[in-house]
Amino acid sequence: MDMVPDGGGACPCAVLTEPFTRCQILNSLDHVCWETLYGSVGSAIRDKVIPDPEADWWPVRVGDRRDVGLVIRQWVEDDRPPERKRLANQLAGSAAWRRTIKRIGHLHERGAVNEGPASDAFIARALRASRLPDTPSTVRYLRAIIAGKNGDLPAAGLLVTTLAFVRVMTPPDGSTPIGGWHPPHGVAVTGLLDLTTAEMWQRAGSAAHSHRRWLAARRPPDLGRLRGVGYYFLADRRAQWRARPGTAGSPFEGKPEQFSYLKEAIRSLDEPLKQSATTPIEKWSLTHPADLRWHLSEFFETVQKRVDGRCERAKRHRPSEPGWRREARREIAKRLPPEQAKAIFPTPIVGR
Ligand SMILES: [Zn+2]
Repeated sequence: MDMVPDGGGACPCAVLTEPFTRCQILNSLDHVCWETLYGSVGSAIRDKVIPDPEADWWPVRVGDRRDVGLVIRQWVEDDRPPERKRLANQLAGSAAWRRTIKRIGHLHERGAVNEGPASDAFIARALRASRLPDTPSTVRYLRAIIAGKNGDLPAAGLLVTTLAFVRVMTPPDGSTPIGGWHPPHGVAVTGLLDLTTAEMWQRAGSAAHSHRRWLAARRPPDLGRLRGVGYYFLADRRAQWRARPGTAGSPFEGKPEQFSYLKEAIRSLDEPLKQSATTPIEKWSLTHPADLRWHLSEFFETVQKRVDGRCERAKRHRPSEPGWRREARREIAKRLPPEQAKAIFPTPIVGR
């Protein structure tokens, strides 16, 4: 994997360290360096995207047992020149904008140009606090005004923030850490809702999707494989295929009667038994009443085994059908001659 060479130019993947706007950037990167992983998490902590850990700041634990290893932040800006010109005109008439320019300009006069209180992140925070757009274009526009130059026009925009989770472990012998992406990753789209357009949302959506594709296709820097890492069971294409609607694996579709003890029992009543042409009902109609309860429990046993086997093959839970045997007995009793029916229910059934 590339590393940032000592004293040399930064690796192209370093663009992920800070929020960026060009959507082609991601596709041109085939890797991500350690420095970029650290840098992106560091800038996300600085901008309060993720909580500041007290120690051991990479990866950063958020919530329960999830570790953020890379933060991808991409701005989608309104790039229509007339809209940007209109925003510039509106800002020119805004007291909040003029106050922000004065404040940042004052800091610049005192020598702070890019560092600390005059950094892009600081300016963006100041803009947000004044209810103004804080997109990179707007920050650059503000800087240009302070410097008395012509610069980019300001723009409204949306920020797509993807938290890429990792799982990294150092083996007990202290050798090279092992691990990788630990999906599912997280995504959030933030911005000033009142300034958004349908087109902007569409582009923010495709940006989020390109983050997803990028993470799925690339691996973090050289790490040995750790079992189960990089895999997310709900996103597994084969498992999704097996569970698609209309298949036995789907608990909502398919033929539910195949997976019900009661329905299977009732269906089997009129099905000829193996090695004979008689159906269970026909057989029991001729059975001595004293033997009937034993025959029925054998029948129920077979039905249960058959349905359980189907569930196992279809990788689904066994049905929860309390009282299905009693319900089946009622059905059976309706179909048998009175003498046999009475033997199934020796005591009168309430409601019949
Ligand atoms: Zn790199």
